Amino acid sequence: MKSDFSTTGPSKLLVRMCHKCGHANESAKELERCEKCGKSFLPLIYATAQEAKTTKAYQQLFQKSSDVEDEDLITGLTVLWD
Ligand SMILES: [Zn+2]
Repeated sequence: MKSDFSTTGPSKLLVRMCHKCGHANESAKELERCEKCGKSFLPLIYATAQEAKTTKAYQQLFQKSSDVEDEDLITGLTVLWD
């Protein structure tokens, strides 16, 4: 699996399990789709997703891992690795 996480990059790694295929996606930013099967993901802060009126505004809801807080995580599907 390719990852843009490195010791010189972001300090946190976001691990998100796909609810369709079970693949563990690793990234320094929230992914919009599963890297394996392409299933789309909602942003972790999905409560405001309906307020995003444009594609760009919607894409901006996907945060960098460094901006994700523990309380944003979906228990059982996401992990923040420091
Ligand atoms: Zn998947």
